[in-house]
Amino acid sequence: MANALTTADWTKRAGQKVARTQLFIDGKFVDAASGKTFESINPRDGSVIAQVAEGDVEDVNRAVAVAKRTFEAGVWSEMAPLDRKNVMLKWAQLIRENAEELALLETMNCGKPISDSLNVDVASCANNIQWYAETIDKLYGEIAPIPRDSIALIEREPMGVVGAVVPWNYPLIISSWKVGAALAGGNSIILKPAEQSPLSALLFAELAVRAGVPEGVFNVVNGFGPSCGGTLGKHMDVNKLAFTGSTEVGKYFLKYAAESNAKAVSLELGGKTPHVVLSDCPDLDSAASAIAWGVFYNAGQTCHAGTRMVVDQKIEDELLEKVRKVSETIMPGDTYDPSTAMGTIVDRAQFDRVNEYIGIGQAEGATIHTGGKPVEPTKGGIYIPPTIFQNVKPGMRIEKEEIFGPVLGSIRVSSEEEAVRIANDSQYGLGAALWTRDVSKAHKIARQLRAGTVWVNTFDRSSITTPFGGFKQSGTGRDRSLHSIEGYTNLKTTWIQL
Ligand code: NAD
Repeated sequence: MANALTTADWTKRAGQKVARTQLFIDGKFVDAASGKTFESINPRDGSVIAQVAEGDVEDVNRAVAVAKRTFEAGVWSEMAPLDRKNVMLKWAQLIRENAEELALLETMNCGKPISDSLNVDVASCANNIQWYAETIDKLYGEIAPIPRDSIALIEREPMGVVGAVVPWNYPLIISSWKVGAALAGGNSIILKPAEQSPLSALLFAELAVRAGVPEGVFNVVNGFGPSCGGTLGKHMDVNKLAFTGSTEVGKYFLKYAAESNAKAVSLELGGKTPHVVLSDCPDLDSAASAIAWGVFYNAGQTCHAGTRMVVDQKIEDELLEKVRKVSETIMPGDTYDPSTAMGTIVDRAQFDRVNEYIGIGQAEGATIHTGGKPVEPTKGGIYIPPTIFQNVKPGMRIEKEEIFGPVLGSIRVSSEEEAVRIANDSQYGLGAALWTRDVSKAHKIARQLRAGTVWVNTFDRSSITTPFGGFKQSGTGRDRSLHSIEGYTNLKTTWIQL
């Protein structure tokens, strides 16, 4: 996507009144039943972007009732596959046509650099919706190999009403994975964005309706976690709940399901991704670049960020120096400047949390190699520069716990076995990376690493065609790829006696 706008252009546009701030239910923008609103804050300078309608139990109940009605009426679920595909393709096109507005909302809410919002977040969102659209008339059912006196059809049917609760770090990308797969599967859906990033979802949903998704099939209810998210999680008429967020909150959704209707739950949770760098790493410069970008991109607020560098002692010093040099090219800057590589931390609470962890690391005996002190490229903004810890030991809190900020820890090892043991010694298992020039070792160790994605001699390469999700407490279920549609459909067997 070409980006001809300057910092001044984006700043001017950001000063205009935000067009959509209400809830989006039944194809219309409406106030919350209580009339309540909450402030949406821009982490670039702490200013209030807008007052956003604060949904609660009554609003979620209303959105679920609407979604249930549309599902039962078959306005979407029974529309011909070709027609549903064309509607979603048009939606992808509208997302591209409205890319600048969507990108600016994402940047104002999340503190992402505008170029990333435009070229990564919005571009991926459009591609994801297009990809899910294309699946709709290409997925066939099966006929079972049973005795010839009968015929058994195996078909996929939509689950019904889907609730999706998402975090603030990639609002449009993560929402497009869930809403794209749910709608491709024929369901109706209620999306609950994070309270830090309520705005882009409203335009995303309006564009769906403008493309032809029938009113009430895709609804957005903004609001807080326990009230809005909790009501969706416990609702008796929600058949599937798709969650991305922290492991702590993910576990609540299992509880909510157990206490209500045993709804299907998929969880994409936290991570503490290790880079295992062996002494025969084929190219230390490439590794350094991948390691630095893999932890400092999005200011480290990425679930699979490569936060642990588990490195052979023979190459640690050289690699650390190279990672530091790359990190100097990823310094925080004004989020409206198209040349900025790193933006802000999402909000004050997260900023305090990351700074607290930087203090904990020092108190535990790790040493700061680079960074560690907040900077302020825009007045009132909450920015933390790339921060690298050396002398990190297994078991330290900064080695075990998800910091969710631009903080890398280097853990020095003396053997492959030790590296794999430390890499796997985590409650998380979302991603892992391995750097070696030995093909046999690459296969052997990739099999030993307990993670949903293992990268070898690269990092964070991804595609909508590959599944994404975690082992262990990084979650259950998968976003992306045809496998994700399995999470939004039920298998039905129809057995016919001939
Ligand atoms: P979070 O768990 O605090 O919030 C996520 C969502 O859950 C928000 O919409 C929030 O309003 C809602 N929520 C909060 N408390 C709730 C409750 N008691 N009941 C119901 N809903 C509730 O996570 P976050 O801080 O927004 O995001 C950061 C976390 O998300 C990190 O742990 C990160 O690793 C994880 N994450 C995982 C993936 C993945 O694909 N595995 C992707 C992105 C982020």
